[in-house]
Amino acid sequence: MNRTIILFSLLTAGILATSGCSSSAGDTSSGSADSTSAVSRDIFAMDTFMTLKAYGENAPEALDSAVLRIEELEHELSVTDADSDIHKINTSGGNAVEVSEDTMNILNKAVSVSSDTGGALNICIYPVLKAWGFTADEYRIPTDSELDELLMNTDMSEVMLSGNSAAIPADYSIDLGALAKGYASDEITELLRENGVTSAIISLGGNVQSLGNKPDGTEWKVSVRDPFAPDSDMCIVSIGEKAVITSGNYERYFVGEDGKRYWHIIDPADGHPADNGLVSVTVIGSSGMECDALSTSLFVMGYPEAVEFWRKDPHYDLILVTDEGRIYYTPGISDSFTNISSMPAEMISEE
Ligand code: ADP
Ligand code: MG
Repeated sequence: MNRTIILFSLLTAGILATSGCSSSAGDTSSGSADSTSAVSRDIFAMDTFMTLKAYGENAPEALDSAVLRIEELEHELSVTDADSDIHKINTSGGNAVEVSEDTMNILNKAVSVSSDTGGALNICIYPVLKAWGFTADEYRIPTDSELDELLMNTDMSEVMLSGNSAAIPADYSIDLGALAKGYASDEITELLRENGVTSAIISLGGNVQSLGNKPDGTEWKVSVRDPFAPDSDMCIVSIGEKAVITSGNYERYFVGEDGKRYWHIIDPADGHPADNGLVSVTVIGSSGMECDALSTSLFVMGYPEAVEFWRKDPHYDLILVTDEGRIYYTPGISDSFTNISSMPAEMISEE
């Protein structure tokens, strides 16, 4: 590691307050629950802190099952665990590998969003992330020629999926970090529902997803961090049953010898941290996996391309923050969005 590079602490969306959710119902971590007290579980998995909070008499057992499910997903999806599907794909020397249904679901989504977004999402970018040191927290600034060479092995059309098997060329590596947590929050909320829970809110490293309304029947309130002051909230949005997923340049970064900030979302066009006018992208919608995939993709696209992309199929909502300190939000949340920052906020028009 280059010791002259100043290493900043990770403001990973792990800290509970991130995109935090506030609930007026009382909290308890005990095993029993009436309809208004929360039962919660805090765990560290998928490289992030997670908090699962559910209400009602079925909550304790449902949450226990949810924790087991998260551990299962971590085992399948981890890029480092030698037994994981992803590790097997990355080390199979180009051969097809049989993978779980979860892994296949995420891979299929990654391929389709990558194609829809003109390659802004690219799960083959892993070797480039590694070169910047984001995989081992040993940060450095790679040379352009090093990046150009690595980018030769990031062609998404080389990801071959068929049935329950996946293959990538021998010199490729993938990681599902851009959308795996969104898949996990979809799976967890569904599992809680199947276990009789009707009111729950979960935060997987700041990616928030809700089930039903609050126990008192009102909507959840989710706060989104100020990317310029990540210890503070920027806005609050009320949601029914939705995912609220943010990608920001403050979540994981280092400052190089040149004094510049380098973050963990890479523009596959040049292998550098994506710097196209946006510092934070929040996507609000019904599918956690889609919101997660899009938050990363739209961050890469930048402003105004992200707005153009949304306009083509506006079935989700956005809160965008530009590097000039302006907030833009879509009309679907105009009644439920409260700006609590000093930044100006403007509604994006539908066309
Ligand atoms: P977070 O994981 O911090 O919530 P994101 O959902 O935006 O944030 O995902 C960022 C992660 O996605 C990175 O840590 C890296 O593993 C991966 N990644 C970075 N850039 C890209 C990209 N252009 N396409 C796909 N994955 C990416
Ligand atoms: Mg994402």
